[in-house]
Amino acid sequence: MMKTNAERIRAVSATAATRAAATGLAVMAALAGTAPISPTAAQDPRVDELVATVQDTIIRLREHIHQYPELGNREFNTAALVADHLRALGFDEVHTGIAHTGVVGILRGGLPGPVVAVRADMDALPVTEMTPYAFRSTVRTTYLGQEVGVSHACGHDIHVAVQLGVASVLAGMRDELPGTVKFIFQPAEEGPPPGEDGGARMMVAEGVLQDPAPSAIFGLHSFAEMEVGKVGFTSGPALAAVDHFKIRILGLQSHGAAPHLGIDPIVMASQAVSAFQTIRSRNLPPLEPSVVTVGIIRGGTRFNIIPHVVEMEGTVRTYNPDVRDAVEQRMGEILAGITAAGGGTYELDYDRGTPATINDPALGERMLPTLARVVGEENVVDLDPTMGGEDFAYFANEVPGFFFRLGQVIPGGTSGGHHTPDFQADNSAVPVGIRAMTNLLLDYLKSARAASE
Ligand SMILES: [Zn+2]
Ligand SMILES: [Zn+2]
Repeated sequence: MMKTNAERIRAVSATAATRAAATGLAVMAALAGTAPISPTAAQDPRVDELVATVQDTIIRLREHIHQYPELGNREFNTAALVADHLRALGFDEVHTGIAHTGVVGILRGGLPGPVVAVRADMDALPVTEMTPYAFRSTVRTTYLGQEVGVSHACGHDIHVAVQLGVASVLAGMRDELPGTVKFIFQPAEEGPPPGEDGGARMMVAEGVLQDPAPSAIFGLHSFAEMEVGKVGFTSGPALAAVDHFKIRILGLQSHGAAPHLGIDPIVMASQAVSAFQTIRSRNLPPLEPSVVTVGIIRGGTRFNIIPHVVEMEGTVRTYNPDVRDAVEQRMGEILAGITAAGGGTYELDYDRGTPATINDPALGERMLPTLARVVGEENVVDLDPTMGGEDFAYFANEVPGFFFRLGQVIPGGTSGGHHTPDFQADNSAVPVGIRAMTNLLLDYLKSARAASE
C-alpha cells in the first residue's frame, strides 16, 4: 500500500519537531518585525536571516501588485516590475516578452550543480474586489464587451511576491549556491483572452525549459481554505484536466405568444443543461472524478420574442483520459438527441485545455521532508486531489514537478473562495512562502549535487 504523505513526513528525523517549534516562533518573530531568528529554524540559517531582511520590501511589492492587477497577456507593468527587480539583484540573464509578457531570470550560483526551475503566475481576473484591504484594487477594464473590475482574486500577486522574495534571498547567497535557478514568471495562467495564445503551454513552446534545461520545476498556489503557516501537498495526480466547451443551439425565431410557429432554443438549452448532469451521475463510473459545468447561457433580446439561437459555454474537469473522451462524446449525443426532438440543430466546439497536474511521486518523496522541516511537520497537510486546474501541468509534463499549496488565511480570519470578490490572502503568507520555496530549491540543488559526487 502507498504511504500517505503524513506517514512519509513522520519518517523525517527526530529533530524535526524541535526545529518545527523553533521555526514557528521564528515566523511569528519575523511577522512581528523583530529580528532574531533561531539558527536551528532551518538547515541554512542564512535563509531565515535574509527572509527577515527582505520581507518588508517584498510585502510592499505584493501590495503594489495587488493594487494594480493586470489581466492575462496584459501583465505589462507587473512584468516590468519583475524584470527590474531581477536586474537589480544582479541576475546573470533576464529575458522579457516571453509568451507575450513572461519574464525569465537566470541566477547562476558560485558552486557547480544542476539547474532547477521555479514558476510564478502573474495574471489577475475580471472580478470586482470587495475586501477590507487598504491596498485593494479599484482597477476597471472592458473584458469581452463588459465593464468589469480587475483583481487578484486567485492570489497570483502572492505568487509573484514570494518568487521575488526567493530571488532576493538566493541572490544574497549566490556564492554558496550549488547550481543554477531559473525563475519563470508566467502570464495568463487563467487562460489567454479569446483568440490569443498564451500561458505555460506557449512558454514551453517558446523554449523556456531549454538553455539551460532544468531537471525539476517547483511551483506553489495560495489556498483560500488554509491558514497562514500551513502548506498542502498532493502526491501524484493533484489538479484536474481543464476543458472548455462552447455550444450554439439553433432554433427558429417567433413571437413569444406563438411558440408553435417557432423552434425554441431556450427550451432545448435548458434541457441540455439538465441532461449534462446525467453524464456524471449515469454514464460514468461513480469513482471516476469528473465535473460538467455550464457557466454561461446567452440568448434572447426581448421578453416576448423566442430567439433563434442560444449560446452556452462551460468547463469539463477530469483526471482519466478515457473519462475525458466519454464526457465529450456524451455531450455530443445529448445535444444531438435534444435538438432532434426539439426540431433544432446544434454546434459543439469542445476545446481540450490544460492536462492534469501530476506531482512527480519520487520528487515529492524527496522534498516533503524539507517542507516539514520549514513549516513544521504538523503544518504539512495531505490534500486530496481537486477538480481545479493549473497550467503548471505543461511544465510538469516536461520535467518532474513539485506543486504545493500555501495557506493564506490569517488565523481567526476568513477568505472568500478563489475567483470571488472577497478572496483574501494575508501578507503574512508571503514570508512563509519565501522560506518554503527557498529551502525546497536549496535542498534540491544540494541533494542533486551530493548524489552526483
Ligand atoms: Zn484561479
Ligand atoms: Zn490561480
